[in-house]
Amino acid sequence: MSELHKFLFDGLPVRGSIVRLTDAWTDMLARRQANTATGAWPPPVAELLGEMAAAGVLMQSNIKFNGALVLQIFGDGPVKVAVAEVQHDLSLRATAKVVGDVGVNARLPDMVNHTNKGRCAITLDPKDRFPGQQPYQGVVPLHGERGEKLGRLSEVLEHYMLQSEQLDTRLVLAADSKVAAGLLIQRLPVTGEGNLAGADQHGGSQRTKEGAPSFRGQANEDAIGRNEDYNRIATLAASLTREELLELDVETVLRRLFWEEKLLRFDLQTPRFACTCSRERVANMIRALGQEEAQSILADHGEIDVGCDFCGQQYRFDAVDATRIFTDPGDQPPVSPTVQ
Ligand SMILES: [Zn+2]
Repeated sequence: MSELHKFLFDGLPVRGSIVRLTDAWTDMLARRQANTATGAWPPPVAELLGEMAAAGVLMQSNIKFNGALVLQIFGDGPVKVAVAEVQHDLSLRATAKVVGDVGVNARLPDMVNHTNKGRCAITLDPKDRFPGQQPYQGVVPLHGERGEKLGRLSEVLEHYMLQSEQLDTRLVLAADSKVAAGLLIQRLPVTGEGNLAGADQHGGSQRTKEGAPSFRGQANEDAIGRNEDYNRIATLAASLTREELLELDVETVLRRLFWEEKLLRFDLQTPRFACTCSRERVANMIRALGQEEAQSILADHGEIDVGCDFCGQQYRFDAVDATRIFTDPGDQPPVSPTVQ
């Protein structure tokens, strides 16, 4: 069973969460492997997607927000785009578009950041968007402040948290063919008991108009990198090795790292794989293509065959189905072909 554990360090302005995706992760890998059109992802791509999925769960669980958190990397190497999407209930899915060869030992820059133009976008897409409301999106490059290429997804996301939320964050991520896991440690902008409610005594924690949480108080900015409790706990977290994170159970990891700290634990949550694709959404996509294009595909292939990149589900529309799409326009807006 996949697990997410959240905790606070008692009396300290520090929170943490640890995720261990097992069935949720192997389910995604098995679906991809079973897809005869694509076959399995190259191992480095699978590892990147596993880390993105784990990070997506950690980030989603840290925000009070009813909608999807979408983590995307737009690359300029053989991996053109990689996506992990986590819903409010921690159901998740992930996929990648690979167009070139990925070496067995490829690292992040080899896959997505050849010419230093790769980007990572974090989108918060509200569940019930009111008309005209845009999703909140933050984008960070895959390089550091001096232009150096970042070798790990965790570094990219640590930069994002610091730049967009002014929060010191330590992330450790790892994935293999069985487990995708992550540990997040974050400094909170307030101390003591107030940290749960997010009430900020010092600078004011606000939500931006798009609904994204933000902690932009001066006192908080002054504290960046300077909180001794956070620094001690983050250093402990950073000592966790990839092997330990993948192989040890959650209780063992927490005991080994934080045996001298007092943790306040929250109820266990269970992330799972789920795809939000549907025949209706694919029909909307075909409608967005236009009748002429649809007829041309039907003339060439006899049917319109659309496979979901996330779960492998095939949707087939014959000439009768296609005619129905265009005579019964439905009421759904068109959806993007990449995220169905
Ligand atoms: Zn699907």
